[in-house]
Amino acid sequence: MGNKEVENKEKEINEFDQFVEPLLEQLDTIQQKLYTPAERMTQEEEVHSRQEYEAVLKKYEKYHKYEEIINDCALDTSEKSFFCHAYCSHCGKDVTMYYRGAKDNSMEQMRDVFRDNFYCPICQLTGRWRRILSKVRQVYSLGKKVYMYEYNSPAYFGALSFVSKGDLIGSEYFGSEYKSGEYVNGVLHEDATNLSFSDESLDIILSLDVFEHIYFYKKAFQEIYRVLKPGGKLFLTIPMEVERDITEDRAKIENGKTIFLKEPVYHGGANHTDFGVLAYTDFGWDILEIIKSVGFSDVKFITYYSIREAYFGRVWYYLDITK
Ligand SMILES: [Zn+2]
Repeated sequence: MGNKEVENKEKEINEFDQFVEPLLEQLDTIQQKLYTPAERMTQEEEVHSRQEYEAVLKKYEKYHKYEEIINDCALDTSEKSFFCHAYCSHCGKDVTMYYRGAKDNSMEQMRDVFRDNFYCPICQLTGRWRRILSKVRQVYSLGKKVYMYEYNSPAYFGALSFVSKGDLIGSEYFGSEYKSGEYVNGVLHEDATNLSFSDESLDIILSLDVFEHIYFYKKAFQEIYRVLKPGGKLFLTIPMEVERDITEDRAKIENGKTIFLKEPVYHGGANHTDFGVLAYTDFGWDILEIIKSVGFSDVKFITYYSIREAYFGRVWYYLDITK
């Protein structure tokens, strides 16, 4: 962005903040009445099973009240309808976070969409990326090679703010007609099941909601294991069906053809076509063992929730995996 654009953006942010200031203050007051300072901070827990996860969900039900109040304060606009004061761990600043989109649906559905839609107006990162990048920050030091599958995202530029340019690799998938390692319009193409990187050449890998779109996802995990150095880290999110124990295919590929086993589900993606990217897999709790079976020494399932950093709607999670 040029100076003028930054200025305009700031002006726009300030005008909106002033407009909603009375509501923001109300939200802050209610939040302080309902929760102790410790309860408003970011909370993380390692869980090992569906049962433990369900216990965590129960524990966090006390936050439903706050989510309902955010919902009640929402404006009737097509975007920036929800907002709250929060701390951006990436920018290191208190900001007014916004929800991208309109108020719609029931509270139950709103809690689902809250999950990853409160973004920081400065870095434009959604909650998931703010959380994961804060984890990367803890383990990165100059010279460590960091790879992420999503080049076309604010997250790549977010990572560049603390990862040296020479250490950061971002790629996209452009289709089977390209070879991993090729550049397509200046962007690195990588097939997750056949990476171009040499053995034990990378230190940290990030993948947020990509693996459900890879039919041969076990091969993709094997590839990560191959290219990571011993002790290397994978930070991963996959849309797990948390009530599901056993991972199941939604669709499969046979002789190069896609065969649907369940109603097709498509998610948006950077290079998606009009209908999005097909999800091949419904992940269940056995995915933790499946990942371990590739050779990883440690697979941690970590839940987190935060009023302070605007990670709410549902109890969130990521996988912290060590080779
Ligand atoms: Zn930020």
